[in-house]
Amino acid sequence: MALIVYSGGLDSTVLLHYLKANGKAFAALMFDYGQKHKKELEFAVANCKKLGVPYDIANLTSITSLFGGNSLTDAGVDVPEGGYKDENMMSTVVPNRNMIMISIAAARAISLGTDEVAYAAHSGDHAIYPDCRPEFADALDGVLRLCHYWPVKLCRPFVNMTKADIVKLGDQLGVDFSLTWSCYKGGHLHCGKCGTCVERKEAFALAGVADPTVYEEH
Ligand SMILES: [Zn+2]
Repeated sequence: MALIVYSGGLDSTVLLHYLKANGKAFAALMFDYGQKHKKELEFAVANCKKLGVPYDIANLTSITSLFGGNSLTDAGVDVPEGGYKDENMMSTVVPNRNMIMISIAAARAISLGTDEVAYAAHSGDHAIYPDCRPEFADALDGVLRLCHYWPVKLCRPFVNMTKADIVKLGDQLGVDFSLTWSCYKGGHLHCGKCGTCVERKEAFALAGVADPTVYEEH
Protein backbone atom coordinates (compact mmCIF):
# COMPACT_ATOMS: atom_id res chain seq x y z
CA MET A 1 0.00 0.00 0.00
CA ALA A 2 1.37 3.37 -1.01
CA LEU A 3 1.27 6.90 0.29
CA ILE A 4 1.04 9.09 -2.78
CA VAL A 5 2.76 12.44 -3.17
CA TYR A 6 -0.21 14.24 -4.64
CA SER A 7 -0.47 17.70 -6.18
CA GLY A 8 -3.90 17.78 -7.83
CA GLY A 9 -2.21 17.99 -11.24
CA LEU A 10 -3.01 15.71 -14.15
CA ASP A 11 -0.21 13.19 -13.68
CA SER A 12 -0.62 12.60 -9.96
CA THR A 13 -4.42 12.50 -10.29
CA VAL A 14 -4.09 9.67 -12.81
CA LEU A 15 -1.63 8.01 -10.41
CA LEU A 16 -4.16 8.31 -7.58
CA HIS A 17 -6.80 6.61 -9.73
CA TYR A 18 -4.30 4.00 -10.92
CA LEU A 19 -3.31 3.07 -7.35
CA LYS A 20 -6.94 3.09 -6.25
CA ALA A 21 -7.88 0.74 -9.11
CA ASN A 22 -5.05 -1.57 -8.08
CA GLY A 23 -6.02 -1.54 -4.39
CA LYS A 24 -2.81 0.31 -3.47
CA ALA A 25 -4.03 3.83 -2.64
CA PHE A 26 -3.35 3.98 1.09
CA ALA A 27 -3.36 7.74 1.65
CA ALA A 28 -2.30 10.97 -0.04
CA LEU A 29 0.02 13.73 1.07
CA MET A 30 -0.24 17.19 -0.49
CA PHE A 31 2.20 20.06 -0.06
CA ASP A 32 1.75 23.76 0.35
CA TYR A 33 5.26 24.99 -0.44
CA GLY A 34 4.23 28.51 -1.33
CA GLN A 35 3.49 27.67 -4.96
CA LYS A 36 1.65 30.34 -6.95
CA HIS A 37 -0.68 27.63 -8.24
CA LYS A 38 -1.80 26.69 -4.75
CA LYS A 39 -5.30 26.18 -6.11
CA GLU A 40 -4.10 22.78 -7.35
CA LEU A 41 -4.61 21.63 -3.76
CA GLU A 42 -8.38 22.25 -4.02
CA PHE A 43 -8.46 19.78 -6.91
CA ALA A 44 -6.36 17.32 -4.94
CA VAL A 45 -8.77 17.45 -2.02
CA ALA A 46 -11.75 17.03 -4.37
CA ASN A 47 -10.26 13.88 -5.94
CA CYS A 48 -9.31 12.37 -2.59
CA LYS A 49 -12.84 12.90 -1.31
CA LYS A 50 -14.29 11.49 -4.52
CA LEU A 51 -12.18 8.32 -4.27
CA GLY A 52 -12.38 8.04 -0.50
CA VAL A 53 -8.61 8.32 -0.04
CA PRO A 54 -7.49 9.84 3.29
CA TYR A 55 -5.17 12.84 2.92
CA ASP A 56 -3.05 15.37 4.74
CA ILE A 57 -1.64 18.70 3.61
CA ALA A 58 1.90 19.45 4.74
CA ASN A 59 2.52 23.15 5.22
CA LEU A 60 6.06 24.02 4.11
CA THR A 61 5.46 27.73 3.69
CA SER A 62 7.82 28.62 6.53
CA ILE A 63 10.73 27.55 4.31
CA THR A 64 9.45 28.89 0.95
CA SER A 65 11.84 31.85 1.06
CA LEU A 66 14.79 29.45 1.18
CA PHE A 67 13.86 28.21 -2.32
CA GLY A 68 13.80 31.75 -3.78
CA GLY A 69 14.77 32.65 -7.33
CA ASN A 70 12.42 30.25 -9.10
CA SER A 71 9.22 31.25 -10.87
CA LEU A 72 6.94 28.83 -9.01
CA THR A 73 7.38 30.28 -5.55
CA ASP A 74 9.10 33.67 -5.98
CA ALA A 75 6.71 36.60 -6.63
CA GLY A 76 9.61 38.49 -8.23
CA VAL A 77 10.14 35.89 -10.99
CA ASP A 78 7.48 35.61 -13.71
CA VAL A 79 6.25 32.17 -14.83
CA PRO A 80 7.70 31.75 -18.36
CA GLU A 81 5.65 30.94 -21.44
CA GLY A 82 6.56 28.32 -24.05
CA GLY A 83 7.33 24.59 -24.15
CA TYR A 84 9.23 22.47 -21.67
CA LYS A 85 12.19 22.13 -24.01
CA ASP A 86 12.82 25.86 -23.87
CA GLU A 87 15.78 27.07 -21.81
CA ASN A 88 13.65 29.56 -19.87
CA MET A 89 11.67 26.70 -18.31
CA MET A 90 14.59 26.14 -15.94
CA SER A 91 13.17 28.96 -13.83
CA THR A 92 10.27 26.64 -12.92
CA VAL A 93 12.60 24.26 -11.09
CA VAL A 94 12.05 24.45 -7.33
CA PRO A 95 15.42 23.18 -6.05
CA ASN A 96 15.29 19.53 -5.01
CA ARG A 97 11.51 19.68 -4.62
CA ASN A 98 10.81 16.00 -5.16
CA MET A 99 13.44 14.81 -2.70
CA ILE A 100 12.02 17.15 -0.05
CA MET A 101 8.47 15.95 -0.67
CA ILE A 102 9.32 12.27 -1.00
CA SER A 103 11.46 12.44 2.14
CA ILE A 104 8.57 13.89 4.16
CA ALA A 105 6.17 11.42 2.53
CA ALA A 106 8.44 8.54 3.56
CA ALA A 107 8.33 9.75 7.16
CA ARG A 108 4.54 9.96 6.97
CA ALA A 109 4.30 6.52 5.38
CA ILE A 110 6.42 5.03 8.16
CA SER A 111 4.36 6.77 10.85
CA LEU A 112 1.22 5.27 9.29
CA GLY A 113 2.85 1.85 9.22
CA THR A 114 3.10 1.41 5.45
CA ASP A 115 6.14 0.80 3.27
CA GLU A 116 5.73 2.55 -0.05
CA VAL A 117 5.72 6.11 -1.41
CA ALA A 118 4.43 6.83 -4.92
CA TYR A 119 5.09 9.80 -7.18
CA ALA A 120 4.09 10.58 -10.75
CA ALA A 121 7.32 11.59 -12.52
CA HIS A 122 7.16 10.81 -16.25
CA SER A 123 9.54 10.85 -19.20
CA GLY A 124 8.45 14.29 -20.42
CA ASP A 125 9.77 15.77 -17.18
CA HIS A 126 13.28 14.41 -17.62
CA ALA A 127 14.53 17.14 -19.91
CA ILE A 128 13.91 19.93 -17.43
CA TYR A 129 13.45 18.42 -13.97
CA PRO A 130 16.48 16.48 -12.69
CA ASP A 131 14.46 15.04 -9.79
CA CYS A 132 12.11 13.28 -12.22
CA ARG A 133 14.84 11.24 -13.97
CA PRO A 134 14.85 7.44 -13.64
CA GLU A 135 18.39 7.65 -12.19
CA PHE A 136 17.15 9.94 -9.42
CA ALA A 137 14.17 7.70 -8.69
CA ASP A 138 16.38 4.58 -8.62
CA ALA A 139 18.89 6.21 -6.27
CA LEU A 140 16.22 7.58 -3.94
CA ASP A 141 14.50 4.19 -3.88
CA GLY A 142 17.79 2.74 -2.66
CA VAL A 143 18.06 5.35 0.11
CA LEU A 144 14.46 4.89 1.25
CA ARG A 145 15.07 1.19 1.63
CA LEU A 146 17.73 2.07 4.22
CA CYS A 147 16.07 4.91 6.12
CA HIS A 148 14.05 2.84 8.60
CA TYR A 149 13.81 -0.56 10.26
CA TRP A 150 11.73 -1.79 7.35
CA PRO A 151 12.50 -0.95 3.71
CA VAL A 152 10.40 1.79 2.14
CA LYS A 153 9.96 1.53 -1.64
CA LEU A 154 9.58 4.35 -4.15
CA CYS A 155 6.77 3.50 -6.57
CA ARG A 156 7.19 5.42 -9.87
CA PRO A 157 5.11 3.57 -12.46
CA PHE A 158 5.03 6.47 -14.95
CA VAL A 159 8.74 7.21 -15.04
CA ASN A 160 9.16 5.83 -18.56
CA MET A 161 5.73 6.89 -19.86
CA THR A 162 4.94 10.07 -21.78
CA LYS A 163 2.31 12.50 -20.57
CA ALA A 164 0.15 11.41 -23.54
CA ASP A 165 0.40 7.81 -22.25
CA ILE A 166 -0.77 9.07 -18.86
CA VAL A 167 -3.75 10.85 -20.42
CA LYS A 168 -4.68 7.63 -22.24
CA LEU A 169 -4.41 5.65 -19.01
CA GLY A 170 -6.46 8.24 -17.14
CA ASP A 171 -9.10 8.10 -19.83
CA GLN A 172 -9.30 4.31 -19.45
CA LEU A 173 -9.58 4.70 -15.67
CA GLY A 174 -12.42 7.21 -15.99
CA VAL A 175 -10.49 10.18 -14.59
CA ASP A 176 -12.42 13.44 -14.68
CA PHE A 177 -9.66 15.63 -16.11
CA SER A 178 -11.67 18.77 -15.42
CA LEU A 179 -10.91 18.05 -11.77
CA THR A 180 -7.16 18.52 -12.31
CA TRP A 181 -5.07 21.68 -12.29
CA SER A 182 -1.82 22.22 -14.22
CA CYS A 183 -1.27 25.95 -14.83
CA TYR A 184 1.72 27.34 -12.96
CA LYS A 185 0.22 30.83 -12.98
CA GLY A 186 -2.65 29.67 -10.79
CA GLY A 187 -5.20 32.13 -12.19
CA HIS A 188 -8.95 31.76 -12.53
CA LEU A 189 -8.56 29.62 -15.67
CA HIS A 190 -5.62 27.71 -17.18
CA CYS A 191 -3.58 30.36 -19.05
CA GLY A 192 -2.88 28.09 -22.04
CA LYS A 193 0.60 29.59 -22.54
CA CYS A 194 2.90 28.56 -19.70
CA GLY A 195 5.04 25.43 -20.03
CA THR A 196 2.73 23.14 -18.16
CA CYS A 197 -0.38 24.42 -20.00
CA VAL A 198 1.36 23.86 -23.35
CA GLU A 199 2.40 20.37 -22.25
CA ARG A 200 -1.13 19.60 -21.03
CA LYS A 201 -2.71 20.63 -24.34
CA GLU A 202 -0.15 18.65 -26.35
CA ALA A 203 -0.71 15.53 -24.25
CA PHE A 204 -4.47 15.49 -24.88
CA ALA A 205 -3.92 16.08 -28.60
CA LEU A 206 -1.31 13.30 -28.87
CA ALA A 207 -3.46 10.91 -26.84
CA GLY A 208 -6.53 11.60 -28.98
CA VAL A 209 -8.55 12.31 -25.83
CA ALA A 210 -10.92 15.28 -25.59
CA ASP A 211 -9.46 18.06 -23.43
CA PRO A 212 -12.13 19.42 -21.07
CA THR A 213 -9.89 22.27 -19.89
CA VAL A 214 -11.10 25.83 -20.39
CA TYR A 215 -8.09 27.93 -21.39
CA GLU A 216 -7.88 31.69 -21.02
CA GLU A 217 -6.55 32.35 -24.53
CA HIS A 218 -8.82 31.89 -27.51
ZN1 LIG B 1 -0.70 28.13 -17.69
